[in-house]
Amino acid sequence: MSSLTHDQFIDLILEFEDKYSGNITAAQYFGFPAQPILNIEQQLLNSHQKNKAYFSMEFGIAPSIYNSFQLNKPISDKNQFYTHEVFSNYWLCDYLFKVRIDKMLDIPIYGGGLGVLAGDAMKSCADQGLPVVGIGILWNKGYFKQKFWYKHGQIPQQLTWDPHTYPGLIPLKNIVTIDTKEGLLHLRLWKYYVYSYDKKFACPIILLDSNLPENNPSFQKLTDQLYRSDNVWWKIFQRIILGIGGMKALESLGYKIDCYHLNEGHAAFALIEKYVGLSNKNDMDQWKKSFVYTCHTPVAAGHDRFRIEEVAKILSEDYVQAAAQFGKENEHSDQINLTFMCLRHCDKVNAVAQKHGEIMRLQFPEFASKIQSITNGVHMHTWLSDSFRDLFDRYQNVLTDWRAHPENLVNVTQLKDSPEFRQAIFEAHQKNKRNLLNIIRHWQLRDDVLTVGWARRIAGYKRPALIFHDIKRILKLAYEVGPLQIILAGKAHPNDDIGGAHIDEILDHIDQLNEHKKVVRIMILENYDTYFGKLLTNSVDVWLNNPLPPFEASGTSGMKAILNGVVQLSTLDGWVVEAANDDIGWIFGYEHHGPEIGSEKDLRLDQDSNALYNNLEEVMKLYYQTYNKGQINIKSPWIDKMINCVARSAFFNTQRMMQEYNQLMWQNNEVYK
Ligand SMILES: *Cc1c(COP(=O)(O)O)cnc(C)c1O
Repeated sequence: MSSLTHDQFIDLILEFEDKYSGNITAAQYFGFPAQPILNIEQQLLNSHQKNKAYFSMEFGIAPSIYNSFQLNKPISDKNQFYTHEVFSNYWLCDYLFKVRIDKMLDIPIYGGGLGVLAGDAMKSCADQGLPVVGIGILWNKGYFKQKFWYKHGQIPQQLTWDPHTYPGLIPLKNIVTIDTKEGLLHLRLWKYYVYSYDKKFACPIILLDSNLPENNPSFQKLTDQLYRSDNVWWKIFQRIILGIGGMKALESLGYKIDCYHLNEGHAAFALIEKYVGLSNKNDMDQWKKSFVYTCHTPVAAGHDRFRIEEVAKILSEDYVQAAAQFGKENEHSDQINLTFMCLRHCDKVNAVAQKHGEIMRLQFPEFASKIQSITNGVHMHTWLSDSFRDLFDRYQNVLTDWRAHPENLVNVTQLKDSPEFRQAIFEAHQKNKRNLLNIIRHWQLRDDVLTVGWARRIAGYKRPALIFHDIKRILKLAYEVGPLQIILAGKAHPNDDIGGAHIDEILDHIDQLNEHKKVVRIMILENYDTYFGKLLTNSVDVWLNNPLPPFEASGTSGMKAILNGVVQLSTLDGWVVEAANDDIGWIFGYEHHGPEIGSEKDLRLDQDSNALYNNLEEVMKLYYQTYNKGQINIKSPWIDKMINCVARSAFFNTQRMMQEYNQLMWQNNEVYK
């Protein structure tokens, strides 16, 4: 078969000569080898390959920390990340001292863990040479920019960036259209390539963009802000763009797809698009075999329901009929439920951890037999710190070929009796910690004080303020056992009042602790993103994870931490259930058992904060026995826990996760030809 030529490839790019020719040549693509792109493009056009399309509302690709493309001129100011403010109990006017980081803004098309997982999944597809194309949306204004204003909490601000000068991102000539009751919606296709760690393979992500002059002004804004939810019109339209627009995009590019993977119910309209396009509707039974679905949360807000009359205001009659037929939970319902639509019509379905599978089967008993569990992971090459990479290289003889085979990290347990290794792993950690403390040096945190980290999306069930529930207990620990440093970060969805209230609460507590700053230093960083996600997870001493069981489907930030030897202080939920017997830290608090799921509103703060403080006391005691006045006690069980963490990360990575998706979800789809 003839291969795709460079000329054919550049012929698809909009304004190639004017804007991109300096960065794309026959040999190079923004500083990376061009051949892997031509190979994957060729492969996606070939129907004999088992090509997959992975639909996701968000992708967190994190080029600032991994595989950054190069530009032949300086990066535009608009795509540069400026400064972060900090709020602490230490300085009265923190805002005078911003944390300044010169880095590229991570392509801002993600909101949190779901997007980061999708980005990590794509990277592992590239690492394994799997022919996968991602389908997502080009969010012209990102998610939002977070500002803290003490006494006023989080103030969401609009984020601006420039897709036209973002390294590696290219607009295509292709435009697809969706016929709506408000006129034609035009969507430009963009492309971004995710390269493998060894740069031998690449996978494209196609991003849809409604910000075009040919659209009416309200349509132009549809792809501005991720998860914009001020009314149902936005929500339905954003899902239509992903599902229907995404299917049209694949067709417009001529990609031959064997399996459509709907990452969350957001993409459910892809099923409707396939059905409406069939001349013989009976063929749909065959087509359904090529659709698979991953559910990411047991929390109610994660499951979209729309009134059929709202959908009917937007889509034409044949689409509305199909949506009702596929998405009504029962005959009499006047709503469609996107979760139900996917569960019912996708051939294979999975939950994102063992425990989540158990909960999903309780939530959806009708589909219990088809629900599999594939535990999430993180992309090792993205989240591994330099100092741990060097450490692994030094022990190459034990951790054979760990770059291509992260599963070999399990062999690190063989080094438990090596005094040199025990010393080296603690020192590698201290190096990470000092790097973090240097970035926030104005706040004068100490590298020999126990530092606890908590950073993730601010949502009620994650209980962001749990550690502040009883301030007297924190102070007692700090005065009696030893000093404490706590670093927090996280964004609440702008319309999530409860999340916002948690931020207010945290800011208030921080403020109250001002007079105790000698023993407790607390700071919260603005604009949690993948850059800080990496920095914090690999540098603090203890990663705190305190969701209310069983509402954390998986969680992934702790997986980034264990890869870098950071021990866990966690409730028993999500991925942690599968590592609870491996001594990776401390497990505390309420445990979920039995067939009742319970309420995500009943946060059990008294009981679980008490359990948290009891455990924290043990953590602090052991820490100060392990590291005191610059002396490392290499016999300490703390170091065994660090080694267990690294060993367990052999499993919690997307390399293993994608192998499972490939075997359990993507194979044996009897495609209708
Ligand atoms: C890893 C990551 C998350 C996910 O954290 P969880 O522990 O799964 O909640 C969210 N946001 C960012 C920026 C991350 O890097």
